[in-house]
Amino acid sequence: MKYLSTRDKTLRFTAAEAIKMGLSRDGGLFTPETFPTLTEEEMKSLCAMTYQQRAAYVMGKYLDDFTAEELGDFAEKAYGPEKFDTPAVAPLRQVGGQTWCLELWHGPTSAFKDMALQMLPQLLTASLRKTGEEKTACILVATSGDTGKAAMEGFADVPQTKIMVFYPKDGVSEIQKLQMVTQEGQNVGVCSVVGNFDDAQNGVKRIFSDVEIREELEKRGYFLSSANSINWGRILPQVVYYVSAYCDLMNQGAIAFGDKVNYCVPTGNFGNILACYYAKKMGVPVGKLICASNCNDVLTDFIRTGVYDRNRPFHTTMSPSMDILISSNLERMLFELSGEDDGAVRGYMDQLKETGRYEISAEMKEKLQSLFYGGFATEEDTTATITALYADGYLIDTHTAVAAKVLADYRAETGDDTVAVFASTASPYKFCDNVLKAIGEEPVTDSVARIAQLEAASGVKAPVRLSALKGKTVRFDAVTEKDQMECVVLNFLK
Ligand SMILES: *Cc1c(COP(=O)(O)O)cnc(C)c1O
Repeated sequence: MKYLSTRDKTLRFTAAEAIKMGLSRDGGLFTPETFPTLTEEEMKSLCAMTYQQRAAYVMGKYLDDFTAEELGDFAEKAYGPEKFDTPAVAPLRQVGGQTWCLELWHGPTSAFKDMALQMLPQLLTASLRKTGEEKTACILVATSGDTGKAAMEGFADVPQTKIMVFYPKDGVSEIQKLQMVTQEGQNVGVCSVVGNFDDAQNGVKRIFSDVEIREELEKRGYFLSSANSINWGRILPQVVYYVSAYCDLMNQGAIAFGDKVNYCVPTGNFGNILACYYAKKMGVPVGKLICASNCNDVLTDFIRTGVYDRNRPFHTTMSPSMDILISSNLERMLFELSGEDDGAVRGYMDQLKETGRYEISAEMKEKLQSLFYGGFATEEDTTATITALYADGYLIDTHTAVAAKVLADYRAETGDDTVAVFASTASPYKFCDNVLKAIGEEPVTDSVARIAQLEAASGVKAPVRLSALKGKTVRFDAVTEKDQMECVVLNFLK
């Protein structure tokens, strides 16, 4: 199966090439030329499998240049007991008659990014081998908090790779920052950027398209690659848990095959919810795709009006991993909505770059609205939702709360009471400060001590690796202006 650029369909690559490059040279995102489907029979056989087996099976449908044995081996390594603290890997928890929560944070960094970033390094190193690549891959990451840590955890000391992470100086939580600056591994680098996430992401994109840097690095034996969710190797492992959750609901007898399930996903870069759309496209009976934003509600407006307009104030919120005004993966959705019209996608992306705004055609808007519902939660809504779910015996983080709130709004507005799953994308222990306040506790000053405080108050055990942050050595303290990121990279790859 070949992968095409969303901006030029004549550019076609194998899966290994697409994963190795991350982003197409023309700035487009790689997308499979066709989508495989899952029959009822296949879905039923997936029900009897472990998460690891489901992952190998679903991914194998897309990665025909990888063997089943390879993928099975990758899945065992990525989702095994050394990495995940539950054998279910992505367990479902019932939180109401018709409502389940899909917990995606049982991996090593306690955020859903692990679901993909434990798999990507294995896909990438295999791709280097398959394409005969001898240079070292340098992974550049711009992070709104969780990707950076999860990517370093996945790539630490992986041969033939180096990884450099940029995060917005004042745009991540204390725990997120501490997780990153204490990262171990000989091949990792971390630097904060004076600016917000979009500044960091723009800097990385600029470096990627800089021909001089590219040539210089080539001389030094490096090439640049991406672990951001624009890489197909990030999106594909995420399709798996939407399939898996549907199987688990069947196994529990909550649904029969063919019953619709609505999914609500707390969204930033549009990667996670796009993976859910792809699961639907493969034949999983997904009903409405509910796109939940915080008060950076550019996607809510887009879904409601068909106008994407990033010219608006940027808000720093208590759900920082969703503080994004340019959702990169939306480009893949535009490719879908336009009937794979690469010229139209290129046009929208040019307008976005030049004016910060574009408006899709009436036909595309109709299709968009038939698939998606968009809503957002304010800071007060987010806190109130944590408080309310905690009163019912469930402790959730700030991002998950956004999803729970928007799902409730969707149901109230439409009366659609179909079985629904909302995604839980981070452990509450990554955002102790705001979670403590929401459950009526005054957070202590020290950010690591808050972990023990939340444990004592809630009686819910903290992930072992977060508790272990206490007393870890800080390895990285570099700060850069956003227009100096090039120098940081060139120094890192001396
Ligand atoms: C990254 C992240 C999101 C947003 O996911 P996208 O794929 O960027 O839409 C939501 N919640 C948490 C905790 C995250 O780390």
